[in-house]
Amino acid sequence: STRIAGHALSWAAGQFRDCTAVVFRDRSFTYTQIERRSNQLANVLIGLGRRPGERLAVLLNNSVESIEAQFGAEKAAQGYVALNARHTVHEQAAILNDAEASVLIAGPEFRDSVMKVRLQVPSLRVVIGVGWQDASVLDYDALLARASDRAPHLTVPADLLLRIAYTSGTTGKPKGVAYSIERWEARLANHFAAMEYGLGIDDAMLHVGPLTHAAGVHLLPCYLRGARNIVADKFDAEQVLAQIGSERISQLMMVPTMMGRLLEAVAANPGADLSSLNRVHYGTAPTPTSMVHEALERLGPILRQQYGMTEAVQPLCVLYPHDHLQDGKPSHRITSCGRPTMDVEITVRGADGRPVAQGEVGEIAIAHRGIGEVAFWRRPDLESESIRHGWYYSGDLGRFDEEGFLYIVGRNKDMMISGGFNVYAREVEDALHAHPAVAEVAVLGLPDTEWGEVIAAFVVRRPGESIDAAALARHSGELIAGYKKPRVIEFVDALPRNHAGKVTKNDLRDAYLARHP
Ligand code: ATP
Ligand code: MG
Repeated sequence: STRIAGHALSWAAGQFRDCTAVVFRDRSFTYTQIERRSNQLANVLIGLGRRPGERLAVLLNNSVESIEAQFGAEKAAQGYVALNARHTVHEQAAILNDAEASVLIAGPEFRDSVMKVRLQVPSLRVVIGVGWQDASVLDYDALLARASDRAPHLTVPADLLLRIAYTSGTTGKPKGVAYSIERWEARLANHFAAMEYGLGIDDAMLHVGPLTHAAGVHLLPCYLRGARNIVADKFDAEQVLAQIGSERISQLMMVPTMMGRLLEAVAANPGADLSSLNRVHYGTAPTPTSMVHEALERLGPILRQQYGMTEAVQPLCVLYPHDHLQDGKPSHRITSCGRPTMDVEITVRGADGRPVAQGEVGEIAIAHRGIGEVAFWRRPDLESESIRHGWYYSGDLGRFDEEGFLYIVGRNKDMMISGGFNVYAREVEDALHAHPAVAEVAVLGLPDTEWGEVIAAFVVRRPGESIDAAALARHSGELIAGYKKPRVIEFVDALPRNHAGKVTKNDLRDAYLARHP
């Protein structure tokens, strides 16, 4: 079967013409304007002789161009690859080479790094600069100005490569996941079915995370509903709070760190107007239970958690607003990530590959309905390692309760074995985070000759707090068994995080071991 590349985007533009599609800083763009600009880019790419499925990479911070580039690439049937703005030149070059990208669209912040990256990527033939010029670089605005703004209407096969989405690299090197047009459509369809968005042309979604990555999952569903996409290029809690009131934001998506900061800002500004807000999406990393409690109290019963991963249908599980409450009070289920969505099947399996008894912890294994197995980009080794009998072994550990709610207890690689007992990071982190002096915490295992591993906690205190390690250890001893109690507690100014907001525990461990050889 075939598709017209980017048809859904043009359809939305035809529906919502003069409605506001995107607001960035003090500029706003209608659906027609976004449509024309992305058509221009698509025509530029086609004019450069680009073939469908060839890889086009972008290195763009949140901006209107980051949306145009995504849409323009789709209309020209390019294999879209997003680079991570926080990666080093070396890491970016590795991804460009892995994807064999031949065009790169880059923003002005990346001028210097792009000049270095291109020397390491033989496949890269064209660099397009957005807002910067160089003799060896094509100018984005000048190219668009000369191009037709009519939709190119390219007919392409449905199994054409549409995207290579790279995982966040939390546990190792980012892995490329290949999405064809039809697989991407199936992912989106599941997303729509699981959303209960209720979004329309009077609504506004605030995007505070990188649109080229995880935060982009809400962009298309909003766009196809005619809502306004309010785009921020950094997360500033006070500004978010002000914007919710002034832009009448109905929904936003945050990673747990952002939610923590927003809750602090809400506490400091009791008069802030949150009346337009009807849904707060959160997830991508474990959210401390005490934070969910506070969010319910300060934001209301409008929280919706999602569990997802780059490799799979989006989202895998949803904890809906009504799941957060029981008889009007916070439910015990708020420590779960919800139940599997319609196109997703999840089983929890032991080391032998068999499903464990309900309630027991095992590896989360995933199967999709109607989309086929997880497909990595040119990594048959990863596929044979992680896909068995149609199940994708995710590397996450979890357990189901009797009602089918899934509780993620940590990652496979983060499970600690101390004195022969299994200890899951999530439980220890939750116990420490329950102390009011703790702003953020990460728990991991350190090698130990006597115990195999000892539990170590890295803690960021809330401003003005001075709790010491002994007091925190006592506190955790009241909540969790002795063998789970951290033996090492270190206070740090901040936790190392990647662009997806996830703590990179390998970095923490390496730094600790370097300090204590
Ligand atoms: P890599 O696979 O490269 O190590 P990553 O797993 O962080 O990086 P992503 O695909 O961006 O890359 O993230 C998916 C992972 O994020 C999940 O496997 C899970 O560990 C975590 N995650 C996502 N949503 C949630 C959630 N709601 N609660 C807890 N963890 C979550
Ligand atoms: Mg992963």
